[in-house]
Amino acid sequence: MGYLVYVNCNCYKNGMTSDPPKKEFVRIVEERVSLDFQQLLLINDKTLRDKIEEDFYNWKETACEHPFMKIAYEYLDDFGVDSMIEYFQFWHEQLPITTKYAPRTHEGMFPIDHAKAILEELDPSDFEPEYEKMVFLNEKSKGINIINTDILSDYYTMGSILIQQSLDGKYGCSLGQFGFNISEDRGTSFYSIFRSSEFTQRTILENQPLKVGDVPVHKCEFIDKETGKSVICGLKLKPFDYDTDEDLEFIVSYGLLSVLRGYEYTYIVTALLKLAEISIETGNRMVWTKWDQENSIHNT
Ligand SMILES: [Zn+2]
Repeated sequence: MGYLVYVNCNCYKNGMTSDPPKKEFVRIVEERVSLDFQQLLLINDKTLRDKIEEDFYNWKETACEHPFMKIAYEYLDDFGVDSMIEYFQFWHEQLPITTKYAPRTHEGMFPIDHAKAILEELDPSDFEPEYEKMVFLNEKSKGINIINTDILSDYYTMGSILIQQSLDGKYGCSLGQFGFNISEDRGTSFYSIFRSSEFTQRTILENQPLKVGDVPVHKCEFIDKETGKSVICGLKLKPFDYDTDEDLEFIVSYGLLSVLRGYEYTYIVTALLKLAEISIETGNRMVWTKWDQENSIHNT
C-alpha cells in the first residue's frame, strides 16, 4: 500500500495527443483527461459502456509521449510517508506546509502555492546521512555494549551520558569522549575521581555492603588497567541479564555511527521535490491517490 503521486501533462489540452476513440465522451476534469461518466451512463448497454471505458484507458496509456498522460509520477510507500511526516514534525517544525499537505489521506491535490512552499521548505542536503563520533562502553568477555553516546538520547548533555548513580546519590558514572568516568558529590559540585578507557570492576562482598531495605547493594572497586589506580564506591555495572559477583572487564571504544537525518526518506523528498517542480512548470497540481495492487496507475 502507498500513494501514487503524479502531475498530469497538458498534451490533450494542447492538441498533442492521438485522437481518442470516442471524443464526445472525453473531458478535462480538474486538469485530468477523463471520461464524462454522466454522459456515459446515458448509454443503457453496459457492455458498450465497459468497452468505451476500456478503449479510453488503453488510448490514454499511449496517447502522448507521457505514459498515462502523466508527465511524472512516483509511488511512495505509505509507511515511509507516515514516518517521514512524524520525523518532520519532530525535527523540522519549520516545514509546516510539507507536514500538513504531504499525502496522508485517501486522495488529494497540492495547490501550486503549496508546491512552491515545498520547494522552499525541503532542502535535499538535510536528508543526507551523517555520521557522529560515538563512544561505546563494552563488557570485554562477551562484547556486550553497556551504553553508547547516542546523541539522540535525552540524557546526552555536555558531551557525556550518565550511566548510573549510587543509591546514596554520592557517586555517578558516565561515558563521554574522555572515556568512562566516576564522579563524587562533594557538596558544592561533582569531582571526577576515576577516569579510564579500560578497567576491571571487582565486586566487594565483605565489610557491610550498602542496603536498600533488605537488599544488599555491594560496592565495587574500579581498577584502571593502564595505571592501576582504583576507587571504591556504590556503583556496579551489570552488563548481563543476571547478576554476578565475578570480576568483569570493560573497555571504551570509539567509532562512527550513521545518524538518522531522514536518510530513509530521501527518496520521498526527492520525489516530492521533482513533482513540485514539474507542477509549477506545467501549472498542473500534484495529485495523489492511494494505490494498491488492484488500484494502480492504469485507471487514474
Ligand atoms: Zn503528455
